[in-house]
Amino acid sequence: MSAEPEPAIRRLCVYCGSSNGVGPDYVDAARRLGTTLAERGIGLVYGGAHVGLMGTVADAVMAAGGDVVGVITSQLTGLEIGHQGIGDLRIVDTMHERKFLMADLADAFVALPGGLGTLEELFEVLTWNQLSIHHKGVGLLDVDGFFGPLLAMLDHAVDAGFIRPQHRAMLRVSDDPGTLLDDLAAWTAPSVEKWVDGRRR
Ligand code: AMP
Repeated sequence: MSAEPEPAIRRLCVYCGSSNGVGPDYVDAARRLGTTLAERGIGLVYGGAHVGLMGTVADAVMAAGGDVVGVITSQLTGLEIGHQGIGDLRIVDTMHERKFLMADLADAFVALPGGLGTLEELFEVLTWNQLSIHHKGVGLLDVDGFFGPLLAMLDHAVDAGFIRPQHRAMLRVSDDPGTLLDDLAAWTAPSVEKWVDGRRR
């Protein structure tokens, strides 16, 4: 009897808004992503909160029978309301520990629409690929073109000589959770150094 092959992504870290955003589309997308993760046997790692899209993703994974690990600081358990429904809620002391543990537990990352916290988390794990601190795929679930202005900014930084095209291309984008997960599972890190004009002489 042959064993099921291990999925390339066993746990996905999702960064997303602690708010819901305007209109139903962001919440719907968070729900679709959560359901797709559970259907594929991919565990969710996320910021452990009950609020906004964060709570929606976690609830959708659990409703479809999937696994969830939440990582939250003791300070935020009150502010963002730690999700009491998840079996594995890890409480840490600092935001840096939170981000490190989330990144360490996951094999790849997806950002849904969100605010400053989401963007900060997204860019940190992207830059860790650039510096070879890890080699893990990073994607955007682009709901209703939410990330268009951000992608335009990155293209502008490429044109201005601050980001290599290969590093710009590390950020995978789709409006469909399944397509994005397939893309991330197949992703391999580019082998170019970070510095666009060579290391300082
Ligand atoms: P937001 O996108 O601003 O709604 O925040 C989404 C998540 O990011 C929330 O769980 C915030 O606690 C978290 N967050 C906010 N600021 C930071 C930060 N500097 N580092 C890591 N996570 C953050």
